[in-house]
Parts: sequence; structure tokens; C-alpha cells
Amino acid sequence: MLRINEMFSTIQGEATYTGTPSLFIRLQGCPVGCSWCDTKHTWPKGKENKKITWDELALKTKDAPTFAEIPAANLVELAKQYRPRHFVLTGGEPCAQDIYSLTEGLLKVGSVQVETSGTHNIDVAHGTWVTVSPKINMGGGLMVLPQALLRADEIKMPIADQQDLDNLEKLIREVNYQNDSYVGGRIWLQPVSQGDKATELCVETAMSRNWRVSIQTHKYMGVR
Ligand code: SF4
Repeated sequence: MLRINEMFSTIQGEATYTGTPSLFIRLQGCPVGCSWCDTKHTWPKGKENKKITWDELALKTKDAPTFAEIPAANLVELAKQYRPRHFVLTGGEPCAQDIYSLTEGLLKVGSVQVETSGTHNIDVAHGTWVTVSPKINMGGGLMVLPQALLRADEIKMPIADQQDLDNLEKLIREVNYQNDSYVGGRIWLQPVSQGDKATELCVETAMSRNWRVSIQTHKYMGVR
């Protein structure tokens, strides 16, 4: 059974799939503990973490810690009823649950992307596009795993200041990427909150390293 917080269709606003109509499937639960997390309602494990029916979940219009449980096969059948054929598994931390069957089933009807913090082993079907957004030194005390970085199709790093860039450089060195030009084209720097200084830092670094800059274009489009 998978625990799902919400499911909604929108336009993917970040990194390689920017502009792609997508069905976002938000999984419930995350132990990573980022202080600036904008989906903290997916974290709780206490009383407020209320189980609801799938019909109730379908009517959800606001962020809430409520979730529904559903087998992967049933979720694939439900996803087929939506128009977008690009499925984004996000969270929470999607890799904290067993999502292999879900990725396998969804790949039969469309493309599949997983957005993960890199703190859990990534076990997804072949052909799944993996976006690792490394979360370093967060409250939950979890480490970014080499397996996650090596499985990543792209790395999307939130950048607030030079320390974040230094952390990213350290991660890349640790996993010893062999082909910098290949991997370099897959590294996205994402200025936190699109702040001026963070954006300037991202642009300068992307220019010098041949990396890329990702901004949260969905916010400009006024979609989720
Ligand atoms: Fe929030 Fe994502 Fe960090 Fe989890 S990994 S705390 S969902 S930002």
C-alpha cells in the first residue's frame, strides 16, 4: 500500500521537464526535515496525520496532513484517467516508500519522473527519470547517498549562498563523476526563492561551469 497526500495535474515548472503537462502524485511522509520545506504538511506522524478515503482525497483543495492508502496497481488505473502522460512522484520523500511497482506500471502509459532528496536508496523501474535535489545537513540528520547521486538523471540543487555551492562541489567530488561534460549538463542550480543574490550566484556559476539554472517557472505561470 502506498500513502498518498494528494494528486493534481499542472505544468512541471523546474529543470529538464519545464513546461510539461504533468500529473503530480505527492507521497505522504518525509523524515528529512528541511527548515524551509514548503510541504511540511506531508511530514507528521502523530494524530494530525489522519487517514481518509480515496474519494475524500480527490476532493482535497488545501494543503493538509491527511492521506489515503492505495495499492500501486489501483493508483496506476486512476492515473490513467488524467490527461497528462508525464507522471511526477514527489513528496514528502517518495523514495521513503516502495515505489518500484508504481514506476513500472506508470511507465506503460507515459513518462515517469521521481523527485527525491537523495537520502534514500532509489529503487525505480528502468526508464524512470530521477531528479535528485540533495538535502544536506537538514534537521532529520540523514546523509545524501552515493547510490542516489549515481542514479540521478539530473541534480537540482537549491542555492541560497556560497556554502550551498561548496556542498554541491563536495558531493560531486565524493561520488567521483568521471565525465564532467555529461554530468555538467545535468546539474541545475536553483536560486532559493529567486532571491537576487542567489540568482546572481547561480548565473555566474552556471556560466563558468557549464551548468544550468532552473527557476520555478510555475510560480510565474500562477499554477501549483
Ligand atoms: Fe520538505 Fe522535500 Fe525537505 Fe522533505 S526533502 S523536508 S519534503 S523539502
